[in-house]
Amino acid sequence: MRLTRYFLPVLKENPSEAQIVSHRLMLRAGMIKQQAAGIYSWLPMGFKVLRRIEQIVHEEQIRAGHIPMLMPTLQPADLWRESGRYDDYGQEMLRVRDRHQRDMLYGPTNEEMITDIFRAHVGSYKDLPLTLYHVQWKFRDEIRPRFGVMRGREFYMKDGYNFDLTKEDALHAYNRHLVSYLRTYERMGLQAIPMRADSGPIGGDDTHEFLVLAETGESEVFYDSAVTDISLGAREIDYDDKAQCQAILEEFTSLYARTDETHDQAVFDAIPEARCRQARGIEVGQIFYFGTKYSEPMGATVQGPDGKPVPVHMGSHGIGVSRLVGAIIEASHDENGIIWPEGVTPFHCGIVNLKQGDAEADAACEKLYKALTSLGLEPLYDDRDERAGAKFATMDLIGLPWRITVGPRGLKNGVVEVTSRRTGDSVEMTPLDAVKKIAEIYAPHHPNLDLHPEPMAGRSFHTWL
Ligand code: ATP
Ligand code: MG
Repeated sequence: MRLTRYFLPVLKENPSEAQIVSHRLMLRAGMIKQQAAGIYSWLPMGFKVLRRIEQIVHEEQIRAGHIPMLMPTLQPADLWRESGRYDDYGQEMLRVRDRHQRDMLYGPTNEEMITDIFRAHVGSYKDLPLTLYHVQWKFRDEIRPRFGVMRGREFYMKDGYNFDLTKEDALHAYNRHLVSYLRTYERMGLQAIPMRADSGPIGGDDTHEFLVLAETGESEVFYDSAVTDISLGAREIDYDDKAQCQAILEEFTSLYARTDETHDQAVFDAIPEARCRQARGIEVGQIFYFGTKYSEPMGATVQGPDGKPVPVHMGSHGIGVSRLVGAIIEASHDENGIIWPEGVTPFHCGIVNLKQGDAEADAACEKLYKALTSLGLEPLYDDRDERAGAKFATMDLIGLPWRITVGPRGLKNGVVEVTSRRTGDSVEMTPLDAVKKIAEIYAPHHPNLDLHPEPMAGRSFHTWL
């Protein structure tokens, strides 16, 4: 993308309505525009990040064997009367009436609807296990929408639902979700710690929330600092392997980590004092096992192996896709702006032309742009006729992890400069090496780049040579 042809309405001033850094930076970087309290338009660059996050969520859900689908935002109230939640949900539920005076609602979650789909189409235990999920807009009429997309009223969420014959199978589904969520967050460059939590209006006994530690988080958390040393990393996972999933759950949840709702001071006090941490966190996901809470009242049964109908065991599992955009910024920024982790960055690198209009500099930028694009990467080329300082400030604000700076002086020596947004370190190299470096950085995030085993073979940027 060339900046002169893009829509990136950055703000020079700090917006006064923003109380936390992620909200401020999302407004300043032209990612969102508020349309009503807790309701936002996603401007092109914000939309790109939202899509990248959604894509990772899909890839990891599909990898875990879960099946994508799409349910509507509006739901009939009658479904919620069956489970008893129409009255229980209270004022957070946005209720509307259609022209025939039928009660409808804008879905805050989808347990009832998915159970309705299940009971209409699944009749035998042989069709289990089954996990369906979707990524869809939700509405909760929050009493205090705030912090931008972190606590919106309309927000984008992945919600998945498992159906199993036995409690044991449903607990495997629970473990599978825990593991797939850990992978999902790690790919976004985040550490999200599973913490024992309270089940709230979803109900059930077993539940973990995933929390990103941040001063601005709304949850109070208590944990053993040793949990921050564990990560999934690159290990191979077989999601059908019950023992492996159980072992990973135990590895990640045996150390103390709880939200204030389930905090137990006596147990906490038994942890070596140097490892006791009380902090704040952002909830970016939650998983539940709730057994037959919905299947029983709604008649979601299957014919069991002995021919008798049995209610299925269920759980539900949510990831706050739109909240994650804010959470990632809270976890990754500095005084100059956002620092996107490579896994979610809206553009893979910036190209800054220090002297727009200089024939050589323009030509070198064009070549870099084409070479990166032909590899399947998306550079953002700042081709505005602006001072270098203004261009750097924009790049720092919008937070692309890598910047290639091109100027007449460097080109005389055959080099451009590659700068890391995170460390600020710059290295001079030939334009070809710069392209190679950027491509290699993104290879793990983009399996399609296909750089192995022979890096770059046959790619069109060899015309550089
Ligand atoms: P919270 O405690 O923050 O109100 P919740 O526990 O009610 O959230 P869940 O039903 O667990 O939310 O929804 C799954 C995920 O959706 C949450 O973990 C969170 O990341 C996200 N989410 C929930 N409410 C909002 C909201 N108002 N704005 C943005 N994201 C939200
Ligand atoms: Mg929750």
